[in-house]
Amino acid sequence: MPAATELFSDAELVQLTDAIARAESRTSGEIRIHVENWCWFDPQWRARRVFRNLAMHKTTAHTGVLIYVAVRSYKMAIIGDSGINKVVPEGFWDETLNRLREDFRAKRFTQGLVEAVNHCGTQLAKHFPGSHNNPDELPNEISFG
Ligand code: CA
Repeated sequence: MPAATELFSDAELVQLTDAIARAESRTSGEIRIHVENWCWFDPQWRARRVFRNLAMHKTTAHTGVLIYVAVRSYKMAIIGDSGINKVVPEGFWDETLNRLREDFRAKRFTQGLVEAVNHCGTQLAKHFPGSHNNPDELPNEISFG
């Protein structure tokens, strides 16, 4: 498995940033992707740490969603803040995560993440449609650990 920072070409990074921007244009929610090499902990726990470190808990309606991947540990998690967690259907995160895991297994890194972003975006849009004033509360660029 390539290192986290070598997983995506420049063009693919743009594709991912664009996917987030597009998904966020339909919702007041905020999506971020964080990729690192190793995770020595439970990925859910680690994702919660990253969520806080990226100040993702500070969105107005608590609608931040983090897609977390530790590539060399083959661990990943998708977590939502309290606002979105209250309304997503049961099993939604697991289902999205399972698809992403399959894509990573098949080395469809960018495509898998784009689909996960779209999937989360659709769910966010359902419950938190974008208003006329829809500030970008968190950067759309991938963060690397
Ligand atoms: Ca954003």
